[in-house]
Amino acid sequence: MNPSPKHTPLLILGAGPAGLAAALYAARADLQPVVLTGPELGGQVAITYMVENYPGFPEGVEGPDLVARFKEQAEKFGAQLVLDTATAVDFSQRPFRIQTTKTEYTADTVIIATGATAKQLEVPGEEEFIGTGVSYCATCDGHFFKGMDVMVVGGGDSALEEALFLTRYANTVTVVHRRDALRAGPLLQKRARSHPKIRFLLESVVTDILGDDVVESVRLRHVSSGETSELPVSGVFIFIGHHPNTDLFEDQIALDARGYIITDKHMRTNIPGVFAAGEVADSRYRQVITSAGMGAAAAMEVTHYLENLSDATP
Ligand SMILES: Cc1cc2nc3c(=O)[nH]c(=O)nc-3n(C[C@H](O)[C@H](O)[C@H](O)COP(=O)(O)OP(=O)(O)OC[C@H]3O[C@@H](n4cnc5c(N)ncnc54)[C@H](O)[C@@H]3O)c2cc1C
Repeated sequence: MNPSPKHTPLLILGAGPAGLAAALYAARADLQPVVLTGPELGGQVAITYMVENYPGFPEGVEGPDLVARFKEQAEKFGAQLVLDTATAVDFSQRPFRIQTTKTEYTADTVIIATGATAKQLEVPGEEEFIGTGVSYCATCDGHFFKGMDVMVVGGGDSALEEALFLTRYANTVTVVHRRDALRAGPLLQKRARSHPKIRFLLESVVTDILGDDVVESVRLRHVSSGETSELPVSGVFIFIGHHPNTDLFEDQIALDARGYIITDKHMRTNIPGVFAAGEVADSRYRQVITSAGMGAAAAMEVTHYLENLSDATP
């Protein structure tokens, strides 16, 4: 490791809503936080076309615009954003050591806000139509599909929960799953199967998402017969899993069975001085506002933690 690392009282890993809200609160508490943006400044919001459920924006706000405002506000109070990515951490010694692609940091406290990534189908059209028909969040985007025909890809609990949620808006919801049986729990299956707007296409996989400017249809292949078909839909909601970005922390802090960081209600991990906020520690709510709220709470906890440390130092 680098012989002369840069020291900071607080290093924030990630610059999505959680990291940037934490940066704002920590900067206002005069902690002069350093924020490593990682590969995507703004996180998932940076790739969101329109956010309509963040309070204060009755007309909605474009994702990149919201990111720019978060960033400006955090920097105004002294947060330092650095375009760099953490590559290794050592929480076994104090100060903590964090290796990045460019340098090394030592930090008295760390807030992990590295977020999560929705698993992609990796088929032609998917990337191209994110925000114009392809979505990974029914709560966020369902509203845009009033009276339209949509597809849900996946067969687990979240796929069926989201399919049921989408029936509030969509005309029909077709659930496509590659196996001949769903993985979702029996009660959820029963509710989905008895819903008049939901139908199922099992043993089927999406091979292409098609359209001009927006999604117009999906090409499917039946897994056993190999037969192909095309289904006209305006929206494709993909729920085939979610990866918390925690590979880096695997042998350093406690993770749950799915790899999410375990925190208490004060955002504390099992390592005193290391906090986690946002989707990296939350598989349930997964929203801009909840992630930002967790980030703010984590920064407030860091402030208390550092105050207690200095009170304890003779
Ligand atoms: C297409 C789409 C549309 C959405 N629409 C909405 C919506 O309308 N409303 C809503 O409320 N929510 C929406 N969401 C969900 C919302 O964007 C997320 O809940 C929120 O962004 C999570 O914030 P986060 O800060 O926890 O993580 P993320 O936004 O995932 O940010 C993670 C950050 O960590 C950084 N990072 C990753 N690894 C490292 C590393 N090793 N070192 C340093 N930094 C790292 C990344 O670069 C990024 O800056 C949408 C999500 C998607 C994908």
